[in-house]
Amino acid sequence: MSFKRKILYASYLALKKSGYLKFKNSFSNQANILAFHRVNHYEINHLSTPIHIFDKLMWTIQQHYSPVPLQYIIDTLNKGNKIPPKTIVITFDDGYRDNLLYAAPILKKYNIPATFFVTSGYINTQRIFPWDAASNIPHPNMTWEDVRELQRIGFEIGSHTINHVNLGKATESEAIQEINQSKEQIKDQVKAPVTTIAIPFGKKECVQSNTEKIIKEAGYQASFMLRGGKLTEKSNPYYLPRVPIYPSYIEMMMELDNYIVYYDNKMKFNFFL
Ligand SMILES: [Zn+2]
Repeated sequence: MSFKRKILYASYLALKKSGYLKFKNSFSNQANILAFHRVNHYEINHLSTPIHIFDKLMWTIQQHYSPVPLQYIIDTLNKGNKIPPKTIVITFDDGYRDNLLYAAPILKKYNIPATFFVTSGYINTQRIFPWDAASNIPHPNMTWEDVRELQRIGFEIGSHTINHVNLGKATESEAIQEINQSKEQIKDQVKAPVTTIAIPFGKKECVQSNTEKIIKEAGYQASFMLRGGKLTEKSNPYYLPRVPIYPSYIEMMMELDNYIVYYDNKMKFNFFL
């Protein structure tokens, strides 16, 4: 570990222990929307969170933060209200089967709401996401029955397009199809309205100037990026920031405590903001 990082961790732990971070965050109107992908017992990387770490994070969130459903955030923004302190939202992208097997029981145990953004053209298929093609470990997708089960036990299902396309490079007609038809497919399968969408890859270059309009016209209430950053009452509901998950538990806690912010893959000090 670098010297700089050691100092960062040590000062965080000292401020945390002193109670100052808790005090400061009780006035903060910054919220964190976390974007998980997989929870399992055989990997730790930027896509996979080990089950015991996920359990520890959710326990901490239930004890010390305010986990809310995504709809609560959308309603708060639409009313122009400030985001209450310590607000956290849990989301999952892509539609991996381990979401139902390992994450959902832990979320239920702590009574934490969550939204699962599923890639409709991968659900119920053996299709492998391009970034998993070289992996020796299988990462099966959910079936529609699995997605319905998530919805039945109280979680929200959102869209993540049909084919996980980069909307920053898609033609207009392709984008319309991916955004509109994924919504219809999911709605038909889960028999519930689909009001939110997570932009595949979620980077700045993964949307175009017309993407927001297409998403609005399809009837979504909000869309989500994955660049990092904090949600405030000024956030655009069609460009909401989400925090990627880092393998380090302490860095996740630093982000939840608004001590650091990851933005476009760079860690920034957020303490005085
Ligand atoms: Zn994705």
